[in-house]
Amino acid sequence: MSKRFSRRSFLRGGMTAAAAGVLPRRIMAQATASADRGPTVLSQFSYGDVQLLDGPMLAQFRANHEFFLAIDEDALLRPFRQRAALPAPGPNMGGWYSWSDEFDPPNNMTGYIPGHTFGQYMSGLARAYAATGDKATQAKVHRLVRGYAETITPKFYAGYPLPCYTFDKINCGLIDAFQFAQDSAALPALAHATDAVMPSLPPQALTRPEMAARPHPNIAYTWDESYTLPENFFLAWKRSGDQRYLALAQRFLQDTDYFDPLAEGDNVLPHQHAYSHVNALSSASQAYLVLGSEKHLRAARNGFNFVLAQSFATGGWGPNETFVEPGSGGLDDSLATTHASFETPCGSYGHFKIVRYLMRITGDSRYGDSMEKVLYNTILGAEPLQPSGFSFYYSDYNNNGAKVYYPEQWPCCSGTFPQATADYGISSYFRSRDGIYVNLFVPSRLNFQQGGRFTLEQQTNYPYEGETTLRLRAGSPQTFTIALRVPAWAGPGTSVSLNGRRWDGELHPGTFASVRREWKDGDKIEYSIDMVKRLEAVDAQHPNTVALLSGPLALFAINSPESRFTREQLLAANRNGSSWIADSAAAPVTFRAFPDIRHEEYRLCHNLS
Ligand SMILES: [Zn+2]
Repeated sequence: MSKRFSRRSFLRGGMTAAAAGVLPRRIMAQATASADRGPTVLSQFSYGDVQLLDGPMLAQFRANHEFFLAIDEDALLRPFRQRAALPAPGPNMGGWYSWSDEFDPPNNMTGYIPGHTFGQYMSGLARAYAATGDKATQAKVHRLVRGYAETITPKFYAGYPLPCYTFDKINCGLIDAFQFAQDSAALPALAHATDAVMPSLPPQALTRPEMAARPHPNIAYTWDESYTLPENFFLAWKRSGDQRYLALAQRFLQDTDYFDPLAEGDNVLPHQHAYSHVNALSSASQAYLVLGSEKHLRAARNGFNFVLAQSFATGGWGPNETFVEPGSGGLDDSLATTHASFETPCGSYGHFKIVRYLMRITGDSRYGDSMEKVLYNTILGAEPLQPSGFSFYYSDYNNNGAKVYYPEQWPCCSGTFPQATADYGISSYFRSRDGIYVNLFVPSRLNFQQGGRFTLEQQTNYPYEGETTLRLRAGSPQTFTIALRVPAWAGPGTSVSLNGRRWDGELHPGTFASVRREWKDGDKIEYSIDMVKRLEAVDAQHPNTVALLSGPLALFAINSPESRFTREQLLAANRNGSSWIADSAAAPVTFRAFPDIRHEEYRLCHNLS
């Protein structure tokens, strides 16, 4: 990889100044903080517009909300207070989060990135406040912002291996505290925090080989993620109006080595660190939204398509946190060689974000198909965070798979987990001028304005069953569209009924079914998705190594790593409650979805006999 990238950098070197430099002044001058220049088809609802109702998504969101509402604030602030030579009461959190003399990468990761997830915990709480209106949560966010603001000093980043990584999360936490928890102290704190990190920021986004070519006291210095900075800088600019953040966003767009080739359809993902490069696609999406840059939109779309083309049947990607070479059979290799198959909370968080951007920009329902796969097959099956900081990290697709906690406390995935679950509501619905789009089928209530106030309530046991009932509450009747996502895999039995009568409009898998009519109080939609079973090969090189799916659900064989199946046996699996039973060469085998697996051993992919 390093050879290839240094060659690319060399070849493109002549273009670097022009390509990596800021956009023409004309564009900067025209850009305004209030209006996006890149048009979108759909827009997002506010956190407070969507309430999750009883179900596994609400349970997971609540567990994370309660966890971080209860977390010790002195412990969270301790690494920052210590560096500022302030009194630092409270316990050491340990793991990645606290300063430690033991840190010796890659052998001993204790003390890896002190304070790294602080901004994400703050962001998760700010979003949880916006979703619930819980005043104690808002008050905690305000205390954390004030507590952090007192500690800000450039000394924090002296001898700190990943300044971009941690600052990006601080940025996110502060702009979320401002936007979602109405904290007026958050933007002044961000201005100071930006001043403090400036001496430690590189001149532009750096690849890992470029970081390795710079002096680095230890290997961890080569793992910083400067290329993920633009997304939150663009958002900081939009929320503050401070031009400094717009300039910083443009400065860190990784055009030469990443977005330029992606925009040209050149798959430069192989061997790259998986999560951070998916996360960077959200920076490209913001460059499109804010600057109207079509090149960055092409980069985001092509990049995400390359990710989808090397995803597991679960929707997860990046075994060993690395993208494989297309056509190499690398995904199949990973089934026998690693248990680190998909970095789940971080990967899901990044996946949900890029899907929301691309759905807003294109209105394409297929992005929603990929979101629900990742939802039901990865993040919704993540084990809960433990008070000691032990966290679920990797989903394991090894042929001898099991759920385990990560051995270090407070890793990256403890930071993205509460953010990902707070975003469940805003991922479920979108809106357009014509009406509303139902993306996820989840027990929930949406409040919206469409010529008057409406409430849409969903009840469903999806994806274990294909039926979803949606009920409308309204003051006065209004004509608009309710669009339902029809998954690309949906079978021919998929149907929509309105107030008990079959709807005969256009209903095509891989699109939204747009039901346009005069809606009135008490209207009822019954949406039934035909949950066909199918087999998905692990990659094109191994067509007989397959996973069994029912609708969006990947089904894992429980405690039977050696079972042999035929294609017909897998496809004839019968549902029994939340399990499925399939015949095998020896005995019937139980299959379960990822959220329903606890301590059992399981197997995702089977070699057909
Ligand atoms: Zn992670």
